[in-house]
Amino acid sequence: MSNKKPLLAAVLGNPISHSKSPRMHNYWLKQNKIEGYYIPIKVEDNKLEETIYSLKDMGFSGANVTIPHKVKALDIAHQSSKRAQDIGAANTLTFTEAGSIYADNTDGYGFINNIKSKYTDWIPGRGSSLVLGAGGASRAVVAALLEQGSSDVIVLNRTIERAQELRDKYDKRVRVEKWSSLNEIVATCNNIINTTSLGMNDETAININPEAISEKALISDLVYTPLETNLLKIAKNRKIRFVDGLGMLIHQGVPGFEAWFGKTPLITEDLRELLLQ
Ligand code: NAP
Repeated sequence: MSNKKPLLAAVLGNPISHSKSPRMHNYWLKQNKIEGYYIPIKVEDNKLEETIYSLKDMGFSGANVTIPHKVKALDIAHQSSKRAQDIGAANTLTFTEAGSIYADNTDGYGFINNIKSKYTDWIPGRGSSLVLGAGGASRAVVAALLEQGSSDVIVLNRTIERAQELRDKYDKRVRVEKWSSLNEIVATCNNIINTTSLGMNDETAININPEAISEKALISDLVYTPLETNLLKIAKNRKIRFVDGLGMLIHQGVPGFEAWFGKTPLITEDLRELLLQ
């Protein structure tokens, strides 16, 4: 038997029982023959800081942080990546050997790498990008597109003020348009990304004219329940390139696994199947 202590990580959120992260990280631990555990922990708002410090003191390597704790987690950390600062929220914490808490946000990384893994010739910065939504996920996607060289990112949001607030952090590479201009804008965009929670069923389908979408577009939907959202059904029917939200979810987990467990995990069809069960 090995004398090495098992490596530990967690995901902190509220609610947390729906999270696919434990299944994913424990699959990767097994795949890499690493002795370790990744556990879900339900954390109330006022307990986040003490929970993070307790995990650190108990020898955990780090933790993912999910709704509703992503903004507060960034405040609690001692250091953070530029992308986490730009987004204003963290989803990955690493406890360093020097005893500090390092915060990162890997959603944008997951978004970009999910597309690149399926469409290796995709150039994120080519043409205009339309981002639907202006919440936390939208901030990560917009920051990632800009970081990848995009010079025209159009944000549409039901509450336009929230989109304007997002735009105000950037220069003229980010513009805001009215939701009512959706069908004109989709005709001109190379990338169309849904970061809203719309599309989970027919009642919440995005009101978009399928024929208006440019045939050159690449469509991404961040929603992954169901895997095939209304928007992705349109893409399939029109034979337009698309990626689903499960791929992004898996890719965003890679940097955390590397930091805590020291190996780069593989993204396999088996893993996708496991997460869909
Ligand atoms: P959030 O901060 O709460 O933002 C929600 C967004 O959805 C806002 O833009 C909101 O518009 C919009 N919205 C909600 N209901 C709407 C409706 N009925 N009509 C029009 N717009 C509506 O949430 P988030 O963290 O950005 O997450 C958004 C979605 O992305 C969720 O479904 C989440 O599961 C998914 N996500 C997926 C991944 C992944 O890895 N695949 C990662 C992160 C998030 P208002 O501002 O007008 O309210």
